[in-house]
This record gives sequence, C-alpha cells and structure tokens, in this order.
Amino acid sequence: MKVVIIGAGLAGITLAYLFKKEGVDVVVIEKDFVGSGETGYSTGVFPLEKDVLEFYREIEKYTRCYFQPVIYDHIRNGKRGKSVYIDGYNFSYYTSIVLEKEGVQFEVMNPFYRFRINGNRIKSAVTKRGEFRGDIFIVAAGASSPFIVNGMNMNFRWIRSLLLKPRKKFETVIYDEFVIKPEGERLIIREEKGEKVKVEVDVVNKVRGVDENFFNVVASYLEREYPDLMDASIERSWASLCSETGDPVKRFERPENLYVFAGFGCYGFGIIPGLAKKLVMEVLNG
Ligand SMILES: Cc1cc2nc3c(=O)[nH]c(=O)nc-3n(C[C@H](O)[C@H](O)[C@H](O)COP(=O)(O)OP(=O)(O)OC[C@H]3O[C@@H](n4cnc5c(N)ncnc54)[C@H](O)[C@@H]3O)c2cc1C
Repeated sequence: MKVVIIGAGLAGITLAYLFKKEGVDVVVIEKDFVGSGETGYSTGVFPLEKDVLEFYREIEKYTRCYFQPVIYDHIRNGKRGKSVYIDGYNFSYYTSIVLEKEGVQFEVMNPFYRFRINGNRIKSAVTKRGEFRGDIFIVAAGASSPFIVNGMNMNFRWIRSLLLKPRKKFETVIYDEFVIKPEGERLIIREEKGEKVKVEVDVVNKVRGVDENFFNVVASYLEREYPDLMDASIERSWASLCSETGDPVKRFERPENLYVFAGFGCYGFGIIPGLAKKLVMEVLNG
C-alpha cells in the first residue's frame, strides 16, 4: 500500500511516522518546508495526559532529539494543573529527517495542485514537479485543506466533529457551533459563539464506562436541539473530516480513498496523536 500525504505539519508528519511504523510506503508532499505552517509558529502546549506524553516520548526516542523543554504549572477554572510545551518546528523537522532516512519520500518545496480522479477513486496527486500515484490520499494541509477539497468542486461543508474518543473515556466533542465536554458528573454543552449553556445530564451512572450510552445521550440532545445536524451524514468524523455537502443534493461523491485530516484549531498537539492512530487503523483495516 502507498499513502500520499499532502502537508508536512504536525498532522502530516505524525501520520507519516505511524504509517511507516506499520510498514506502509509513504510520500509527503509539502509546498514549502517541513513545519512551515501553523506547526512552526505555535506555542505547542499540550496537556499532561499519559498517552499524549507517551507519543511524544516515543518520537523523542525515535529521533534521539528532545522536544519537550518546559513543564509548567497553570491554574485553569480554579484548578491547578501541569502542561508541557513542545517545539513544533523541531519536532516536525527532525522527525522528517529520520523518516526520510528510513525511506519516507519527502517532496518539499513542491506545491500540490489537484487530484486526478478516475470514477470514485483518486489515482494521483498532481504537483508542481510531477504526479504521485498512490492507494490512499490524505489532505493534511492545515488551514489550506478546505481550499484543496473545495478545489475539487465537491461543495463540502466543514463539520468539525471528534465523535470517537482518542485519548480517554469522555472526550470533548467539537462541532462548528458548539463543544460538548464531560466535566465531572455532567456534560457541558457550550455554544462557541453564544452563551455558555450548562446541561446536566442525569445519566452519568448509566453512562460511566459505557461509551455507547454516552453517545446515545449526546445524540438525543443533538436530535432535539439541532435537528438539521442529525440529517447530515457525518462520515469518518473521528478525523475531523469535512464530509457533508451543504446542499440537499450531493453534486459529487467523495472519492473513497480520500481522507482529510485537518481542523484541529488550537488543540493540535493534544489531539493529533490519538486521532492519527485511529485514522491509520481505519485505513489499514479498510
Ligand atoms: C500562535 C499559535 C499558537 C498555537 N498554540 C498551540 C498550543 O499551545 N497547543 C496546541 O495544541 N496547538 C497550538 N496551536 C495549533 C497547532 O499549531 C495546530 O493545531 C497544528 O500545528 C496544526 O498542524 P497541521 O499539520 O494540521 O497544520 P500545519 O502545521 O499548518 O501544516 C500544514 C502543512 O500543509 C502545507 N500545505 C498547505 N497547502 C499545501 C499544498 N497545496 N501543497 C502542499 N503542501 C501544502 C503547509 O505548507 C503546511 O506545512 C497554535 C497555533 C498557533 C498559530
């Protein structure tokens, strides 16, 4: 299998590493240099959560570099906590160097232009310096991703949703307009643009430890409050995929070998490792 990834930021590099680890051939196409996007400018704070930390430690061992220089205390919502800074630019740059030595092909300073599509499958990615064939294509081009997908005239609407939970039992669910977050014994449903609405859900005991119930509760709330959203078929939502056309009639089908791995906002360093693992598993398991 050969995977073509567009974008060499935190998302693209993390995917390249995980696919390579699974023995998959990988090509990364980057219009500038590795880490030149948001990744290289970010403050790179992430929560001190076991599996997130473990992932970055794994990369540190892999590259023999040290990317987590500062652990600092913070007080958030009146609670004390600890976070870590990671050096996003060096993380992506040095990881790419080791990956390249191990056979991952990096096409830097080589902008992607468009996909060549045959039926409902992408055949190749057309770039400034030529065409790259592959079995799976992943757009991990950060903020440019919607333009790339829209450039295919697919009329996608962004639906950011992290419905599957990469890191722990109760993961935050993020949509365009609102965030659903477990907080203690409650689900907090916060509208991004409006007032913070606290919704107490009286099923915590039933929910605890049973993921399906958690989602049933969320789904019934959404069904009641956002009926339009429930009509939307959100596909592969674990990967923040923009998957739904705003029109009632789909004009183009999404090619079946296309994934979009973007839209992490200011949570990339905490969210990407877990979601990338899910995406890799999904691709490998068909
Ligand atoms: C100031 C700032 C502070 C931040 N602080 C934090 C923080 O503390 N904690 C946290 O978790 N997150 C933080 N973030 C967010 C975090 O940086 C992002 O979530 C993460 O870097 C996104 O990575 P990415 O790979 O999706 O995107 P990017 O890093 O933008 O990578 C996308 C890549 O795709 C390439 N590309 C685009 N178009 C094309 C094309 N046509 N052809 C080929 N390549 C293309 C770009 O050049 C780029 O290299 C911050 C961001 C900023 C700007």
